Amino acid sequence: MHEMSLCEGVLQILEESSASQGFSKVKRVWLEIGELSGVEKEAMRFGFDVVMKETLADGAKLEIIDVPGEAWCMPCSKQVKVAARFDACPDCGSYQLQVTGGDEMRVKELEVE
Ligand SMILES: [Zn+2]
Repeated sequence: MHEMSLCEGVLQILEESSASQGFSKVKRVWLEIGELSGVEKEAMRFGFDVVMKETLADGAKLEIIDVPGEAWCMPCSKQVKVAARFDACPDCGSYQLQVTGGDEMRVKELEVE
């Protein structure tokens, strides 16, 4: 499962922050997940609990923030919202879109002890 390795990546970020900022326990993690990132939220929640077991984030709560997909439409010369990576422009129907946002996942904030 792809989400499992993403959770391991999150754990790595937590461990690095713990070393640089000097906290020993993570209580809550806010994770931004873009609509176009292809990350399954349910799989993320499941993987999170499994991966964080017996680490500094054991029992931590996962808060998921949805980030809408955004693209730049060339014919319209403006930013439009898209729900899927290969969607057409909602205004003009063109496929000449460049994804500009909502295609990544990142740790936004931590609540630590
Ligand atoms: Zn357009």
